Amino acid sequence: MDRFSEGLPDLQEAKVVDHCEECGGEIYDKQLVWRVGEDLFCCSGCMLTNLGAVTITAGE
Ligand SMILES: [Zn+2]
Repeated sequence: MDRFSEGLPDLQEAKVVDHCEECGGEIYDKQLVWRVGEDLFCCSGCMLTNLGAVTITAGE
């Protein structure tokens, strides 16, 4: 359950306008998304993964 699931009760009825470049998730009209060039991402995690960013533990 992510935080975007809450507060968007009309999600099922929202118009799908695009899909996330990384996970393929639906992107809805008026949804706040990340854009890199022409690519849209549903969340910062998808954007960073697509760009090749990974989470590591510093010092290891
Ligand atoms: Zn995504």
